[in-house]
Amino acid sequence: MNQVSHGDTPLQSGQAPAPDRVAATVRRDIRAMAAYSIGHADGGIKLDAMENPYGLPDAVRDDIAAAVRATALNRYPDDAAALHRAVRQAFDIPATAGLLFGNGSDELINLIVQACCEPGDVVLAPAPSFVIFEMAARFNHARYVGVPLTAGLELDLPAMLAAIATHRPKVIFLALPNNPTGGMWPTAAVQAILDAAPGLVVIDEAYQPFADHTWMPLAAELPNAVVLRTVSKLGLAGLRFGYLAGPAAWIGEFDKVRPPYNVDVLTQAVLLAVLRHKDVLDGQAAQLRADREPLAKALAELPGVVVHPSAANFLLLRFSGKLRADAVHQALKSRKIWVRAFGGSDPLLNNCLRISIGTPAENAALLAALREILERS
Ligand SMILES: *Cc1c(COP(=O)(O)O)cnc(C)c1O
Repeated sequence: MNQVSHGDTPLQSGQAPAPDRVAATVRRDIRAMAAYSIGHADGGIKLDAMENPYGLPDAVRDDIAAAVRATALNRYPDDAAALHRAVRQAFDIPATAGLLFGNGSDELINLIVQACCEPGDVVLAPAPSFVIFEMAARFNHARYVGVPLTAGLELDLPAMLAAIATHRPKVIFLALPNNPTGGMWPTAAVQAILDAAPGLVVIDEAYQPFADHTWMPLAAELPNAVVLRTVSKLGLAGLRFGYLAGPAAWIGEFDKVRPPYNVDVLTQAVLLAVLRHKDVLDGQAAQLRADREPLAKALAELPGVVVHPSAANFLLLRFSGKLRADAVHQALKSRKIWVRAFGGSDPLLNNCLRISIGTPAENAALLAALREILERS
């Protein structure tokens, strides 16, 4: 029987370890945390995680099936040279830029902080932004400094520049467009941050497929910046694949802390197959982009609802008057429509909900539900 044992005394399965042993061993800050909670959408309409709502057509699925069938699961992943070539071509990565793959871009965010930060070094980002920036800082014993956005949820450039001068951050994360607000920081403001940064600036373009601007063409040229992307929001969230492009000198250092084989053979094989049909993903992204403005306009016409301008595949809504975001969240939940609430995580997000753009039918169902909820309140 397989049983974890310590010396001669096998642990009975289900036997709880002494709580003081856990407390004395696990880091205090980790014990004080809650694990990253992943929404559980039980059927219904899932608009809480910026996923692409469209599945892949059968022809693409057949290609994936053939690629998986041909994959040697008994071998460790190789150096992924074929995937490097395909990713460079599919996503217009400059030939001279270094390129690193991650198990989702979440992993790359962690590797960057791990490689750059000694205990107490500062990781800085506008706030609110993507929560993984702060988690990566904490896990790696760095100090996280969040610089609040303006009341209108725009970048506060003077505050950013002041915080950079005060805290001398090793790493600055800029999500462009920003999650969860959807806004795109002006290019001149980003340039001012690049000029002022004493360390590295990570430009996180997770939502680039839905935006009009990218820093990727400059990925080999900006001396202190790297460009981070993911295929998650494009339609492959289940695959867990992200990539980082930048000057080879930076990328080479991050490669040293990358766990060997972090992108498994199935992910590699499936991605290679899907990228042969990248036009399908691009078409779906174009559809979501086209549906964004009409949905934003219809939502903004609801009484007491303000929609923040978005360059991403989601919208941030703020409720006012007697309508509370938590009540709307609950009412949508009872109709099996899943959206993101923020539970007081940041005062700037008070009374806000974040909603992914869905299919036209899903967007219509959301609107109908919200109209009904508003009428009853
Ligand atoms: C969703 C998101 C990511 C996470 O990407 P994964 O590749 O799925 O880990 C990274 N950055 C931002 C800003 C995001 O919103």
